[in-house]
Amino acid sequence: MKKETRILHAGRNPKDNFGIVNPPVYHASTVTFPSVDAMHKAGQNPTEGIYYGRMATPTSQALEEAVASLEGADRAIAVQSGLAAITGAILPFVKTGDHILVTDSAYFPTKKFCDTVLKGFGVETTYYDPMIGSGISALIQDNTKIVFTEAPGSLTFEVQDIPAIAKAAHDRDVLVIIDNTWAAGYFFNAFENGCDISVQAATKYIGGHSDVMLGTIALHDDLYKKVKTYVYGMGYCAAPDDCYLAQRGIRTLPARLAIHQDNAIKMANWLKERPEVTRILHPAFEDCPGHEIWKRDFSGACGLFSIVLDEKYTDSAVAAMLDGMELFPMGYSWGGYESLIIPFNPQGARQVTAWPDKGPCLRIHAGQENIEDLLADLEKGFARLNKA
Ligand SMILES: *Cc1c(COP(=O)(O)O)cnc(C)c1O
Repeated sequence: MKKETRILHAGRNPKDNFGIVNPPVYHASTVTFPSVDAMHKAGQNPTEGIYYGRMATPTSQALEEAVASLEGADRAIAVQSGLAAITGAILPFVKTGDHILVTDSAYFPTKKFCDTVLKGFGVETTYYDPMIGSGISALIQDNTKIVFTEAPGSLTFEVQDIPAIAKAAHDRDVLVIIDNTWAAGYFFNAFENGCDISVQAATKYIGGHSDVMLGTIALHDDLYKKVKTYVYGMGYCAAPDDCYLAQRGIRTLPARLAIHQDNAIKMANWLKERPEVTRILHPAFEDCPGHEIWKRDFSGACGLFSIVLDEKYTDSAVAAMLDGMELFPMGYSWGGYESLIIPFNPQGARQVTAWPDKGPCLRIHAGQENIEDLLADLEKGFARLNKA
Protein backbone atom coordinates (compact mmCIF):
# COMPACT_ATOMS: atom_id res chain seq x y z
CA MET A 1 0.00 0.00 0.00
CA LYS A 2 1.01 3.58 -0.58
CA LYS A 3 2.34 5.75 2.23
CA GLU A 4 -0.85 7.85 2.56
CA THR A 5 -2.92 4.72 3.11
CA ARG A 6 -0.42 2.95 5.37
CA ILE A 7 -0.05 5.78 7.84
CA LEU A 8 -3.79 5.91 8.46
CA HIS A 9 -3.77 2.31 9.67
CA ALA A 10 -0.37 1.55 11.16
CA GLY A 11 -0.36 1.15 14.93
CA ARG A 12 -4.16 0.94 15.25
CA ASN A 13 -6.16 -2.18 15.86
CA PRO A 14 -9.88 -1.47 16.29
CA LYS A 15 -10.74 -5.20 16.25
CA ASP A 16 -8.92 -5.67 19.55
CA ASN A 17 -10.36 -2.48 20.97
CA PHE A 18 -14.16 -2.88 20.90
CA GLY A 19 -14.15 -1.51 17.34
CA ILE A 20 -13.03 1.87 18.64
CA VAL A 21 -11.02 3.67 15.97
CA ASN A 22 -8.17 5.08 18.03
CA PRO A 23 -5.96 3.15 20.48
CA PRO A 24 -6.39 3.73 24.22
CA VAL A 25 -3.80 5.57 26.32
CA TYR A 26 -2.05 3.27 28.77
CA HIS A 27 -0.48 4.98 31.77
CA ALA A 28 1.96 2.48 33.21
CA SER A 29 5.00 1.94 35.36
CA THR A 30 4.43 -1.53 36.87
CA VAL A 31 3.61 -4.42 34.58
CA THR A 32 2.60 -7.54 36.53
CA PHE A 33 3.32 -11.14 35.53
CA PRO A 34 1.19 -14.20 36.21
CA SER A 35 4.14 -16.45 37.16
CA VAL A 36 7.84 -16.50 37.97
CA ASP A 37 8.41 -18.20 34.64
CA ALA A 38 6.55 -15.52 32.65
CA MET A 39 8.47 -12.81 34.53
CA HIS A 40 11.85 -14.38 33.72
CA LYS A 41 10.92 -14.93 30.08
CA ALA A 42 9.88 -11.28 29.66
CA GLY A 43 13.12 -10.17 31.34
CA GLN A 44 15.21 -12.07 28.84
CA ASN A 45 13.96 -9.94 25.99
CA PRO A 46 13.16 -6.48 27.39
CA THR A 47 13.48 -4.70 24.02
CA GLU A 48 10.34 -6.53 22.85
CA GLY A 49 6.96 -6.87 24.47
CA ILE A 50 5.50 -5.16 27.50
CA TYR A 51 7.87 -5.52 30.45
CA TYR A 52 8.10 -2.26 32.37
CA GLY A 53 6.55 1.17 31.70
CA ARG A 54 9.84 2.81 30.74
CA MET A 55 10.56 0.24 28.02
CA ALA A 56 7.23 0.20 26.19
CA THR A 57 3.47 0.41 26.55
CA PRO A 58 0.85 -0.41 23.91
CA THR A 59 0.57 3.38 23.51
CA SER A 60 4.25 3.94 22.70
CA GLN A 61 4.17 0.90 20.42
CA ALA A 62 1.17 2.30 18.51
CA LEU A 63 3.13 5.48 17.79
CA GLU A 64 6.29 3.56 16.95
CA GLU A 65 4.47 1.38 14.41
CA ALA A 66 2.93 4.43 12.79
CA VAL A 67 6.29 6.26 12.57
CA ALA A 68 8.07 3.19 11.19
CA SER A 69 5.40 2.98 8.51
CA LEU A 70 5.67 6.70 7.74
CA GLU A 71 9.45 6.58 7.38
CA GLY A 72 9.64 3.24 5.57
CA ALA A 73 11.67 1.69 8.39
CA ASP A 74 11.34 -1.69 10.13
CA ARG A 75 11.11 -0.11 13.56
CA ALA A 76 10.90 3.19 15.41
CA ILE A 77 11.72 4.16 18.99
CA ALA A 78 9.84 6.97 20.74
CA VAL A 79 11.73 9.17 23.18
CA GLN A 80 10.91 12.25 25.22
CA SER A 81 12.11 14.98 22.80
CA GLY A 82 13.64 15.55 19.40
CA LEU A 83 16.97 16.29 21.03
CA ALA A 84 16.76 13.00 22.96
CA ALA A 85 16.22 11.22 19.61
CA ILE A 86 19.42 12.84 18.31
CA THR A 87 21.53 12.01 21.37
CA GLY A 88 19.94 8.56 21.63
CA ALA A 89 20.88 7.79 18.01
CA ILE A 90 24.48 9.00 18.37
CA LEU A 91 25.52 7.67 21.79
CA PRO A 92 25.19 3.90 21.11
CA PHE A 93 27.79 4.14 18.34
CA VAL A 94 30.61 6.17 19.94
CA LYS A 95 33.17 5.67 22.72
CA THR A 96 36.19 7.59 23.97
CA GLY A 97 38.70 8.14 21.17
CA ASP A 98 36.09 8.10 18.40
CA HIS A 99 35.31 10.84 15.92
CA ILE A 100 32.09 12.01 14.26
CA LEU A 101 31.31 14.34 11.35
CA VAL A 102 28.44 16.80 11.79
CA THR A 103 27.05 19.21 9.21
CA ASP A 104 27.76 22.88 9.94
CA SER A 105 24.07 23.57 9.24
CA ALA A 106 22.85 21.27 12.06
CA TYR A 107 20.22 22.32 14.60
CA PHE A 108 22.14 24.35 17.18
CA PRO A 109 21.43 22.14 20.25
CA THR A 110 22.83 19.17 18.27
CA LYS A 111 26.11 21.06 17.94
CA LYS A 112 26.00 22.05 21.61
CA PHE A 113 25.64 18.36 22.57
CA CYS A 114 28.70 17.50 20.46
CA ASP A 115 30.74 20.38 21.89
CA THR A 116 29.90 19.64 25.54
CA VAL A 117 28.69 16.09 26.29
CA LEU A 118 30.53 14.23 23.50
CA LYS A 119 33.66 16.33 23.99
CA GLY A 120 33.59 15.54 27.71
CA PHE A 121 33.53 11.83 26.92
CA GLY A 122 36.53 12.21 24.60
CA VAL A 123 34.57 11.94 21.34
CA GLU A 124 35.78 14.47 18.80
CA THR A 125 33.45 16.30 16.36
CA THR A 126 34.49 17.80 13.02
CA TYR A 127 31.96 20.10 11.39
CA TYR A 128 31.71 19.97 7.61
CA ASP A 129 30.29 22.11 4.82
CA PRO A 130 26.67 20.97 4.27
CA MET A 131 27.27 21.10 0.47
CA ILE A 132 30.30 18.78 0.67
CA GLY A 133 28.63 15.78 -1.06
CA SER A 134 31.01 12.92 -1.83
CA GLY A 135 33.88 15.17 -0.68
CA ILE A 136 33.00 13.95 2.83
CA SER A 137 35.32 10.98 2.20
CA ALA A 138 38.38 13.24 2.63
CA LEU A 139 37.23 14.00 6.21
CA ILE A 140 36.61 10.38 7.24
CA GLN A 141 39.29 9.14 9.62
CA ASP A 142 40.03 5.61 10.83
CA ASN A 143 38.17 6.43 14.08
CA THR A 144 35.14 8.10 12.41
CA LYS A 145 31.93 6.34 13.47
CA ILE A 146 29.09 8.61 12.31
CA VAL A 147 28.27 11.14 9.61
CA PHE A 148 25.43 13.25 10.99
CA THR A 149 23.31 15.07 8.39
CA GLU A 150 20.33 17.40 8.41
CA ALA A 151 18.63 18.06 5.08
CA PRO A 152 17.78 20.81 4.66
CA GLY A 153 19.28 22.67 7.64
CA SER A 154 16.36 24.02 9.65
CA LEU A 155 17.71 27.60 9.83
CA THR A 156 19.69 28.12 6.62
CA PHE A 157 18.13 25.41 4.39
CA GLU A 158 21.11 24.01 2.46
CA VAL A 159 19.90 20.70 0.97
CA GLN A 160 22.55 18.05 1.46
CA ASP A 161 23.41 15.41 -1.16
CA ILE A 162 22.49 12.51 1.12
CA PRO A 163 22.99 9.66 -1.43
CA ALA A 164 26.53 10.89 -2.21
CA ILE A 165 27.39 11.35 1.48
CA ALA A 166 25.92 7.94 2.36
CA LYS A 167 27.87 6.18 -0.36
CA ALA A 168 31.17 7.74 0.76
CA ALA A 169 30.40 6.91 4.42
CA HIS A 170 29.36 3.32 3.75
CA ASP A 171 32.52 2.71 1.70
CA ARG A 172 34.36 3.25 5.01
CA ASP A 173 31.80 1.47 7.27
CA VAL A 174 30.60 4.73 8.78
CA LEU A 175 26.99 5.07 9.97
CA VAL A 176 24.77 7.79 8.45
CA ILE A 177 22.18 9.53 10.62
CA ILE A 178 19.77 12.18 9.34
CA ASP A 179 17.72 14.72 11.25
CA ASN A 180 14.64 14.37 9.04
CA THR A 181 12.42 16.83 10.93
CA TRP A 182 11.97 19.37 8.09
CA ALA A 183 10.62 16.75 5.68
CA ALA A 184 8.64 15.18 8.58
CA GLY A 185 9.76 11.75 7.35
CA TYR A 186 7.15 12.29 4.63
CA PHE A 187 8.75 14.35 1.85
CA PHE A 188 12.09 12.51 2.10
CA ASN A 189 12.68 8.77 2.40
CA ALA A 190 15.85 8.57 4.47
CA PHE A 191 16.36 4.86 3.92
CA GLU A 192 15.94 4.83 0.13
CA ASN A 193 18.49 7.63 0.06
CA GLY A 194 21.08 5.67 2.02
CA CYS A 195 20.64 6.70 5.68
CA ASP A 196 20.91 4.12 8.47
CA ILE A 197 18.92 6.07 11.07
CA SER A 198 16.33 8.82 10.64
CA VAL A 199 15.56 10.95 13.68
CA GLN A 200 12.76 13.46 14.00
CA ALA A 201 11.54 16.00 16.45
CA ALA A 202 7.96 14.66 16.50
CA THR A 203 7.42 17.84 18.51
CA LYS A 204 7.12 19.54 15.10
CA TYR A 205 4.82 18.28 12.32
CA ILE A 206 4.00 14.83 13.68
CA GLY A 207 2.52 16.39 16.82
CA GLY A 208 1.42 19.30 14.69
CA HIS A 209 -0.34 21.36 17.37
CA SER A 210 2.53 22.86 19.46
CA ASP A 211 1.52 20.83 22.50
CA VAL A 212 3.85 17.81 22.51
CA MET A 213 7.54 17.17 23.30
CA LEU A 214 8.60 14.00 21.52
CA GLY A 215 11.32 12.44 19.40
CA THR A 216 11.44 9.39 17.16
CA ILE A 217 14.34 7.22 16.01
CA ALA A 218 13.48 5.19 12.88
CA LEU A 219 15.79 2.35 11.87
CA HIS A 220 15.93 -1.14 10.47
CA ASP A 221 15.97 -4.40 12.47
CA ASP A 222 19.78 -4.71 12.37
CA LEU A 223 20.25 -1.61 14.56
CA TYR A 224 17.06 -1.75 16.62
CA LYS A 225 18.15 -3.84 19.58
CA LYS A 226 21.39 -1.94 20.12
CA VAL A 227 19.74 1.48 20.05
CA LYS A 228 16.67 0.44 22.07
CA THR A 229 18.85 -1.16 24.77
CA TYR A 230 21.00 1.95 25.01
CA VAL A 231 18.08 4.36 25.01
CA TYR A 232 16.14 2.64 27.80
CA GLY A 233 19.39 2.13 29.70
CA MET A 234 19.85 5.91 29.72
CA GLY A 235 16.33 6.30 31.08
CA TYR A 236 14.84 7.83 27.95
CA CYS A 237 11.11 7.31 27.66
CA ALA A 238 8.21 9.08 25.99
CA ALA A 239 5.11 10.07 27.98
CA PRO A 240 1.85 8.22 27.14
CA ASP A 241 -0.32 11.25 26.39
CA ASP A 242 2.35 12.66 24.08
CA CYS A 243 2.62 9.31 22.27
CA TYR A 244 -1.15 9.28 21.85
CA LEU A 245 -1.27 12.82 20.45
CA ALA A 246 1.60 12.08 18.07
CA GLN A 247 0.04 8.89 16.67
CA ARG A 248 -3.15 10.90 16.20
CA GLY A 249 -1.17 13.68 14.49
CA ILE A 250 0.30 11.27 11.95
CA ARG A 251 -3.16 10.50 10.54
CA THR A 252 -3.56 14.07 9.29
CA LEU A 253 0.10 14.75 8.47
CA PRO A 254 -0.29 14.68 4.65
CA ALA A 255 -3.33 16.98 4.73
CA ARG A 256 -1.66 19.47 7.06
CA LEU A 257 1.65 19.43 5.20
CA ALA A 258 -0.13 20.17 1.91
CA ILE A 259 -1.51 23.42 3.35
CA HIS A 260 1.81 24.40 4.97
CA GLN A 261 3.64 23.70 1.71
CA ASP A 262 1.18 25.70 -0.36
CA ASN A 263 1.13 28.71 1.97
CA ALA A 264 4.95 28.73 2.29
CA ILE A 265 5.46 28.65 -1.49
CA LYS A 266 2.88 31.39 -2.09
CA MET A 267 4.46 33.47 0.67
CA ALA A 268 8.00 32.93 -0.62
CA ASN A 269 6.93 33.87 -4.16
CA TRP A 270 5.42 37.08 -2.79
CA LEU A 271 8.51 37.82 -0.67
CA LYS A 272 10.79 37.23 -3.66
CA GLU A 273 9.26 40.27 -5.39
CA ARG A 274 9.69 42.55 -2.37
CA PRO A 275 12.54 45.10 -2.57
CA GLU A 276 13.35 44.53 1.15
CA VAL A 277 14.26 40.85 0.51
CA THR A 278 17.60 39.88 -1.06
CA ARG A 279 17.46 36.08 -0.87
CA ILE A 280 14.86 33.33 -0.37
CA LEU A 281 16.21 30.33 1.55
CA HIS A 282 13.57 27.77 0.61
CA PRO A 283 14.62 24.49 -1.04
CA ALA A 284 12.01 24.93 -3.81
CA PHE A 285 13.65 28.22 -4.88
CA GLU A 286 16.78 28.61 -6.96
CA ASP A 287 18.52 30.90 -4.45
CA CYS A 288 18.71 28.02 -2.00
CA PRO A 289 21.94 25.95 -2.04
CA GLY A 290 21.00 22.40 -3.01
CA HIS A 291 17.79 23.38 -4.85
CA GLU A 292 18.61 20.83 -7.61
CA ILE A 293 19.18 18.12 -4.99
CA TRP A 294 15.83 18.93 -3.41
CA LYS A 295 14.15 18.52 -6.82
CA ARG A 296 15.89 15.17 -7.28
CA ASP A 297 15.41 13.62 -3.81
CA PHE A 298 12.40 15.25 -2.11
CA SER A 299 8.71 14.97 -2.94
CA GLY A 300 7.68 18.27 -1.37
CA ALA A 301 8.40 21.02 1.13
CA CYS A 302 7.02 21.90 4.55
CA GLY A 303 6.10 25.38 5.81
CA LEU A 304 9.50 26.38 7.18
CA PHE A 305 11.92 28.66 5.29
CA SER A 306 14.06 31.76 5.75
CA ILE A 307 14.65 35.06 4.01
CA VAL A 308 17.57 37.49 3.98
CA LEU A 309 16.76 41.20 4.19
CA ASP A 310 18.76 44.04 2.67
CA GLU A 311 21.81 44.88 4.77
CA LYS A 312 20.60 48.49 5.18
CA TYR A 313 18.06 47.35 7.79
CA THR A 314 19.20 47.70 11.40
CA ASP A 315 18.32 45.36 14.26
CA SER A 316 15.95 47.98 15.66
CA ALA A 317 14.13 48.29 12.31
CA VAL A 318 13.70 44.50 12.26
CA ALA A 319 12.42 44.66 15.85
CA ALA A 320 9.87 47.33 14.83
CA MET A 321 8.65 44.99 12.10
CA LEU A 322 8.46 41.87 14.25
CA ASP A 323 7.11 43.42 17.46
CA GLY A 324 4.00 44.55 15.59
CA MET A 325 3.15 41.34 13.74
CA GLU A 326 -0.39 40.13 14.39
CA LEU A 327 -0.33 36.65 12.84
CA PHE A 328 3.36 35.79 13.25
CA PRO A 329 4.21 35.47 16.94
CA MET A 330 7.89 34.97 17.76
CA GLY A 331 8.84 31.66 19.26
CA TYR A 332 11.02 28.62 18.84
CA SER A 333 9.84 25.30 17.56
CA TRP A 334 7.47 25.09 14.56
CA GLY A 335 5.28 22.53 12.82
CA GLY A 336 2.11 23.54 14.66
CA TYR A 337 -0.89 24.91 12.78
CA GLU A 338 0.12 28.52 13.34
CA SER A 339 2.52 30.88 11.62
CA LEU A 340 5.68 31.99 13.44
CA ILE A 341 8.66 34.24 12.79
CA ILE A 342 12.11 34.67 14.40
CA PRO A 343 15.11 36.84 13.57
CA PHE A 344 18.48 35.05 13.46
CA ASN A 345 22.13 35.61 12.66
CA PRO A 346 23.87 32.70 10.89
CA GLN A 347 27.28 34.40 11.23
CA GLY A 348 27.54 33.34 14.86
CA ALA A 349 26.30 29.77 14.30
CA ARG A 350 28.98 28.61 11.83
CA GLN A 351 32.13 26.64 12.62
CA VAL A 352 33.67 25.91 9.21
CA THR A 353 31.66 27.68 6.52
CA ALA A 354 31.42 31.44 5.97
CA TRP A 355 27.93 32.91 5.67
CA PRO A 356 27.75 34.98 2.45
CA ASP A 357 24.99 37.48 3.31
CA LYS A 358 25.37 40.59 5.47
CA GLY A 359 21.68 41.41 5.87
CA PRO A 360 19.48 40.36 8.79
CA CYS A 361 17.70 37.01 8.43
CA LEU A 362 14.17 35.93 9.34
CA ARG A 363 12.94 32.38 9.70
CA ILE A 364 9.26 32.00 8.89
CA HIS A 365 6.89 29.16 9.60
CA ALA A 366 3.93 29.39 7.24
CA GLY A 367 0.91 28.16 9.18
CA GLN A 368 -2.56 27.23 7.98
CA GLU A 369 -4.09 30.72 8.15
CA ASN A 370 -5.61 32.20 5.00
CA ILE A 371 -2.72 33.29 2.76
CA GLU A 372 -4.26 36.73 2.04
CA ASP A 373 -4.35 37.47 5.78
CA LEU A 374 -0.72 36.39 6.16
CA LEU A 375 0.49 38.51 3.24
CA ALA A 376 -1.44 41.56 4.51
CA ASP A 377 0.26 41.19 7.90
CA LEU A 378 3.69 40.91 6.25
CA GLU A 379 2.94 43.97 4.11
CA LYS A 380 2.19 46.03 7.22
CA GLY A 381 5.36 44.61 8.78
CA PHE A 382 7.46 45.85 5.87
CA ALA A 383 5.92 49.30 6.25
CA ARG A 384 7.14 49.35 9.87
CA LEU A 385 10.57 48.06 8.78
CA ASN A 386 10.94 50.87 6.23
CA LYS A 387 9.67 53.57 8.60
CA ALA A 388 11.97 52.69 11.52
C1 LIG B 1 13.07 21.23 17.18
C2 LIG B 1 14.14 20.45 16.52
C3 LIG B 1 14.84 19.47 17.20
C4 LIG B 1 14.65 19.21 18.67
O1 LIG B 1 13.38 18.83 19.01
P1 LIG B 1 12.83 19.00 20.52
O2 LIG B 1 11.65 18.14 20.55
O3 LIG B 1 12.57 20.46 20.70
O4 LIG B 1 13.93 18.51 21.44
C5 LIG B 1 15.77 18.75 16.51
N1 LIG B 1 16.03 18.97 15.21
C6 LIG B 1 15.38 19.92 14.51
C7 LIG B 1 15.69 20.12 13.07
C8 LIG B 1 14.42 20.68 15.14
O5 LIG B 1 13.78 21.65 14.45
